[in-house]
Amino acid sequence: MGDYFKSQSSYSNTFKHKNSKFPIRLKPLKNELLSSWLLREAYAHYMNPPAFISLYFYNFDRHIFHRDIDLVGINENFIKQLVSKTYYKKEDFLGMTLKSYEGYLFINLNKSNRNLFILQPRFRKGRAIKKAIRFCPLCLKESKEQYLKKYWRLSFSTICLKHKCFLYDNCPECGEVFSPNKRKYDIKEYHCHKCGFSFSQSPIKYVSKLSSGFKNIQKINEILESGVFIFEGKPILSIFFFPILKQVLRFLYFYNFRTIELLNEESHLLNIQLPEEKNKKKRFLEDLSIKEHYILFTVAMEIFKSKDSFEKYIKDNKIGFPFLNRGIEYIPFWYDELIKQFSNKHYFPTDEEIKSAVKYLKKKGIKPSYKKLSKMFDCYLDKRRTVEL
Ligand SMILES: [Zn+2]
Ligand SMILES: [Zn+2]
Repeated sequence: MGDYFKSQSSYSNTFKHKNSKFPIRLKPLKNELLSSWLLREAYAHYMNPPAFISLYFYNFDRHIFHRDIDLVGINENFIKQLVSKTYYKKEDFLGMTLKSYEGYLFINLNKSNRNLFILQPRFRKGRAIKKAIRFCPLCLKESKEQYLKKYWRLSFSTICLKHKCFLYDNCPECGEVFSPNKRKYDIKEYHCHKCGFSFSQSPIKYVSKLSSGFKNIQKINEILESGVFIFEGKPILSIFFFPILKQVLRFLYFYNFRTIELLNEESHLLNIQLPEEKNKKKRFLEDLSIKEHYILFTVAMEIFKSKDSFEKYIKDNKIGFPFLNRGIEYIPFWYDELIKQFSNKHYFPTDEEIKSAVKYLKKKGIKPSYKKLSKMFDCYLDKRRTVEL
């Protein structure tokens, strides 16, 4: 009998928590990531994060930390519950997610696919197995309460602009991937769940004064913050600049267009070489190491210093016109203007011309393809730039 009442009351207690506000409501810190704030909330309640989630939320279980909470805050329902448990607004929470980069880094965030310059996590049994968040040991050390910053999820965040040192994405002691939600809840500091190393004690690797990295990475951050890239004195919306910046990273990394002095200098300073074509294992730019990212972004920004530096890079590497816009979903006007001088022909075949070429090929018994058409017209054609085959 007694047991019956006991289970009844604990049952209703569970729902009481699901309906109530958090007893302790922490203020989000400057540039804090949503997951970081949630973790702090859980620890402030002396609970481990999975237990905290299952106690306070409807329809969400403890596995929530095995998902990318910071992309959009899981979903509308989760954000709604967060609002009901605090005095904060929906916008406050969305501002702590990567969705807040919409209109600055990309037009719309893609929930189910990769997003430009965003490091994407992968989990196995709640443990991060892919490097998707970085930290600055000195930032961790100096804040009263350790927390994670939103921009540590971006691939160009390779150094701390405040402390002028490199960020980390793994444990300097044992190499384990940084997995923020895996820690002993009675230890306040971020530490390695495998060996216990406290990350604020990581050795500081300062950026060399001889490197152009600091000023160039700073420049990218300014563009992200202002939403504007100034090129040749003209403002360009950052959402139309970042995809083109990525294009130049691809030239440098995947296509081996590496004739540029700064690349040698920066590689020499860091004592690393970008891998040659044959032993490139990484399929996506987001998968590269912090130092590789640092070098690539530093050099790419140098290329976009001026029209002259861009043209020199294209000429020195003999990059053909088809490469310049290959794989770009939408070619912004400013870039189209910049590259059109490299096109042999200043015209593009009309739909009619392409249709007759297709007819011609078919007549000859040849299956038409964009590759064949590109060759015929001596310019790069694909389904975005021409008719359906
Ligand atoms: Zn720092
Ligand atoms: Zn470790």
